[in-house]
Amino acid sequence: MKNKKNIERNKREKYPLISYQELPEYMKDNEFILNYYRANWPLKQAFFSIFSWHNETLNVWTHLIGFILFMVLTIANAEHLSQIADFMTMFIRNFPSGDPNISHNSKCVPHFVLQGETRLIDQNLQMDSATNEATWPFYVFLVGAMFCLLSSSICHLFSCHSQKLNLFLVQMDYVGITIMIITSFFPPMYYIFQCSPHWQIVYLIGITILGICTIITLLFPVFSTGKYRSFRTGLFMSMGCFGLFPAIHALVVNWNDPMRNVTLAYESAMALCYIIGAIFYVSRVPEKWRPGLFDLVGHSHQIFHTFVIFGALAHYGAARIFLEYRTRFRCDNR
Ligand SMILES: [Zn+2]
Repeated sequence: MKNKKNIERNKREKYPLISYQELPEYMKDNEFILNYYRANWPLKQAFFSIFSWHNETLNVWTHLIGFILFMVLTIANAEHLSQIADFMTMFIRNFPSGDPNISHNSKCVPHFVLQGETRLIDQNLQMDSATNEATWPFYVFLVGAMFCLLSSSICHLFSCHSQKLNLFLVQMDYVGITIMIITSFFPPMYYIFQCSPHWQIVYLIGITILGICTIITLLFPVFSTGKYRSFRTGLFMSMGCFGLFPAIHALVVNWNDPMRNVTLAYESAMALCYIIGAIFYVSRVPEKWRPGLFDLVGHSHQIFHTFVIFGALAHYGAARIFLEYRTRFRCDNR
């Protein structure tokens, strides 16, 4: 027991938490967070630091919980689909006889029943393929959100390891944000412009090109520094603002749509969350007002992370409505 305690103490002495002044130059990002930094830690120590307090603990956990949340939502939706499929299969199997105990041995079942069953199964398969066709943009967004949240978590956990890994993980974090923005466009663009595929292509290719330009720009190491914090935010915001074009277009085209106000409310909530999050990210409030006080809990990056999750959840809400609406009311002229 004593030995175990000694080992723990030795570890703490070997990898102590340090102050901003003691940080290597590449890790100096926010001068208003004064203490509890990890620097040049081995990967193993960095990994297990997920269970201890330092100034990145809540940055790791906020997006890790977000990642788990979106994974659960993805699984729940996929489950839901298979449950519908199971229900349909059960319904079809029982439909001709109305009694699940009656054998479906072809010798015992009249010919017209088998014919009816086959026709219904065919219809079910067609419906399934229609549903699958319509659900993929929804899952593209969920996967994009999970990638963003996980790469952010990994970045905050391991970027204290070395300068090389720090730069790589920070860039992966930016790639994750860009991918989340691009994939967020898929459900609304696909479902809103389902009846005008050329607009789907225009908007989705437009945001993808913008995203690729953003990634290429942010792969220059100079743009990962604190000096370019506002520039990075501007790039991400301009990608978000690109969404105004299809949003106005969609509003004009679907002015009389009964779902207009609900989806608009969700998407406005999303935009508001991202804007508030970005303001915290750039301004570094509240730690700027009281340096040192918010080192562990309550600094701007944690608040920014939380708003990103709220924004993504609001967009998820909108995406579900688009999905349900379009799978029920399919386009007539396709
Ligand atoms: Zn972050």
